[in-house]
Amino acid sequence: MDQRITTDGTANGADVRRRIPRTDALLRDVRLAEAAHRLGSGVVKAAVRQAQERARDGAIAPEDVADSAVALLPRTIGGLRSVINATGVVLHTNLGRASLSTAARQAVQEAAGPTDVELDLRTGVRARRGRTALAALRERVPSAAAAHVVNNGAAALVLVATALAAGKEIVISRGEMVEIGDGFRLPDLLVSTGARLREVGTTNRTTIADYAAAIGPETAFVLKVHPSNFRITGFTRTADAGELATLGVPVVVDIGSGLLAPHPLLPDEPDAETQLRAGASLVTASGDKLLGGPQCGLLLGEEELVRTVSRHPLARALRVDKLTLAALEATLTGPETPTAASLAADPARLARRAERLASTLAADGIDVRAVESAATVGGGGAPGVTLPSAAVSLPERYAAALRTGPVPVVGRLESGRCLLDLRAVPPEDDERLAEAVRSVTEPATEG
Ligand SMILES: *Cc1c(COP(=O)(O)O)cnc(C)c1O
Repeated sequence: MDQRITTDGTANGADVRRRIPRTDALLRDVRLAEAAHRLGSGVVKAAVRQAQERARDGAIAPEDVADSAVALLPRTIGGLRSVINATGVVLHTNLGRASLSTAARQAVQEAAGPTDVELDLRTGVRARRGRTALAALRERVPSAAAAHVVNNGAAALVLVATALAAGKEIVISRGEMVEIGDGFRLPDLLVSTGARLREVGTTNRTTIADYAAAIGPETAFVLKVHPSNFRITGFTRTADAGELATLGVPVVVDIGSGLLAPHPLLPDEPDAETQLRAGASLVTASGDKLLGGPQCGLLLGEEELVRTVSRHPLARALRVDKLTLAALEATLTGPETPTAASLAADPARLARRAERLASTLAADGIDVRAVESAATVGGGGAPGVTLPSAAVSLPERYAAALRTGPVPVVGRLESGRCLLDLRAVPPEDDERLAEAVRSVTEPATEG
């Protein structure tokens, strides 16, 4: 038997070390063997090493190394971790915006293998890529004669500007020169395509006469951009799609949020159908904001323009994958999205959920109470709109502990408390949320 010297030099330490199971023995544990098959042996070996280390440090008993290694295994190896969005921001950019519906997740799973994305199974002949998703889109927006899908809203704008306006002018209001976030500015994006911007009006007021004066032989189209992340109030004036349609040049409206039809709770948020019906030639939008689908960019409108845009060589570089098409179609044809459910959530029901969570956690001795809260739509649109909500209020130190816990929860800090806002948390996640709070409570009470 080998008599290794332990770091602390005690016979007890040496004894413990001798009893730590060896790696090859641990890898024969059925649970770990199965995990190696599922996740890859590298991940399992790392968990085993970590568990052995914990036993060596005296944190666990040698008999518990296998169990510990199993507990340390990640659920998936995607790198991205699933989190509970308790920020009260329904579409949180840093949390990946819209959460896909169960139907969309299943569609993604189904599409992950070989699919008929570009093949007609009946005839065995090549078919238009994503034709069923595009048909679903047109069904939801009857005024759109044609549709095309690209990687995101920014890509939709780049493609339109490149295909229709390279070397020409895009007429745009000075009040709509928007920064969309993280330093990205739409004017820079548009100019990068080789189009020139013809700015009209002022920050707060732009009239139809301002646009009319700028239209000329160099004009490719008029672009109207929805200010989706800020609001200008007071002495303001803008021209709507109906007025712009009288100018005799194509009108492109970037609605941002991806609402296909008016939303009763968000009356100021533009939607594709209304804009097209009013006279817009093309509408561009994101798929993962208020539409509640996967990241993608939608292009809807006149057949001729959509054809020109979708046949431009750049379209090939911006095309979406089959997973996106599958998720988009399921979002369009399936049940209510988590985004729509969060927006429509009844405040009284949210309050009851917060009360229930607070009372079960209080029973565990946690300093917790249910409070009223104000949620927002987020980077996805409807700036300035607050949605009455309810939250579980915990001591501030919970914020960091919950983020880094086994089930990561992202809350928000307010007046020295950590609030877990329930507006964007699906009701079926309440038990997971309670468990997440409990799982980070123990060490704090011990210490
Ligand atoms: C979000 C947004 C964009 C960018 O869309 P992405 O899908 O994030 O690329 C462009 N324009 C408006 C008005 C937006 O709100």
